[in-house]
Amino acid sequence: MSSLGYNILYNFINERDDTWCERVIYPDFHSIESNTPLNNFDIISFSLQFEEDYFNVVKILKKSNIPLKREDRTENDPLIIAGGPCATANPMPLSDYIDIFIIGEGEVIINKFLDQYNKNPKLSNFLDIDGIYIPKFDNDAKIAIVSNMDDAYHITQPIITKSDNDEYKTVFSDSIMLNVSRGCTRGCRFCMSSYLYRPMRETNIERLIDTAVKTRENTGLNKITLIGAAVSDYSQIESLIRKLEEKDFQISTPSLRIESITYESLKLLKESGLKTITLAPESIEELRKRINKDIPDEKIFSVIKDAVKLDFNIKLYFLIGLPYETKEDIKCLCDYIEKIANMHTSRHKIKFSINPVVPKPHTPLQWMSYNFKDIKQKSKYIKKNLRKYNVKIESPKKALIQYILSCGNRDISTIIEKSLTKNITLHEWMNYLPEYNIDDELPWDKIDVGVKKEFLKIEHKRLESKKQTPWCDVSPCYNCGACEIK
Ligand code: SF4
Repeated sequence: MSSLGYNILYNFINERDDTWCERVIYPDFHSIESNTPLNNFDIISFSLQFEEDYFNVVKILKKSNIPLKREDRTENDPLIIAGGPCATANPMPLSDYIDIFIIGEGEVIINKFLDQYNKNPKLSNFLDIDGIYIPKFDNDAKIAIVSNMDDAYHITQPIITKSDNDEYKTVFSDSIMLNVSRGCTRGCRFCMSSYLYRPMRETNIERLIDTAVKTRENTGLNKITLIGAAVSDYSQIESLIRKLEEKDFQISTPSLRIESITYESLKLLKESGLKTITLAPESIEELRKRINKDIPDEKIFSVIKDAVKLDFNIKLYFLIGLPYETKEDIKCLCDYIEKIANMHTSRHKIKFSINPVVPKPHTPLQWMSYNFKDIKQKSKYIKKNLRKYNVKIESPKKALIQYILSCGNRDISTIIEKSLTKNITLHEWMNYLPEYNIDDELPWDKIDVGVKKEFLKIEHKRLESKKQTPWCDVSPCYNCGACEIK
């Protein structure tokens, strides 16, 4: 419900005179606006934010009495489309159920799509639109993204979600989402969104202030959530916070990049009401180098010290199961986390989230597979050794399933569908574990996101050599391919 992309599309579509868009939020199967059952709509569009959404897609179709398989549907059934990061990266696992995938940022595709639908909804007619993948034709598809953030859709009349049920409260409820930037070219080798949505694009600062002020006038909301792949990388971040603060906004953000945090920006955020900061050191310094996140420990410790001084709650994210990670590295990681935990005056104010790395399509980790046994042992060790601290470890089985759904091919649909009626055992899941060699054809090769496969192969080799690839925003272009098609 808090997805900015979904909010943008809702407003964008409803601005058209010929189209009416309503929302259906799982686990409901009727629209919020008019209580219309899903099978009464002409088009149903799923926003796929996380791989685990796939199970809900099939559940929603089934509960709505819509034939699951696209080949079993007729022209009297709704057209089923899907977008979002998971659809963009690898549409194959859901390709038996979805008629059309939107590859990229919806606002540059959806108008062309709807114009064509209104003219003639025959499937083959959509093939000429950039950013469309149609499983029936298994066509080559090219990502479409907004090239200039001034042309992006900035919402000033957002959906405000209210619920009496706390379980259904949105993450950013009661706050204005301000889209400061999209994309990130830092190039952390595990991060899918940094490869899908290149290059980094910033919204003009005056446009942001104007959007915030207009949204407040329209909604009465006063809290701002800054949204971007790495908000602190925004080139005028201090000036933006200051200007918003001068207009009496309260500011928060879920994403800060450690390198670009300054004491000044933290202080400004604290003054404007932010209570918790979230940082992602990912691992110990040696392993950070492998994943192209070469932030020295000194910088990490100095940001944490500043945050402690300003009495922030701190949440830190770590990964386990990184390439070439040894048991010795995990021991060092435990010492590292212990050291950080002891830096805070109060232990309950510092939390750690430890997650198995899930290799994703279009990243240099796509050839890595997932070593369940190794990750299970490591997570057991960490649990035992960091008992005293506020540490949450993601289940290795859950991450395994995410990996299979993320990097699987069309065969995965069998197990997704089976999950509707049966509990799938670990053993069954393991039968679907993808393993790719560097020269293999990959299920998502048809999807051109700009970044070239050859470039990913170089980056994959650099996992071993620990060679860094610089940030192209401040150093010369290294021809990853993204800017050629966008
Ligand atoms: S093509 Fe060059 S400038 Fe564009 S994202 Fe890739 S490295 Fe950066």
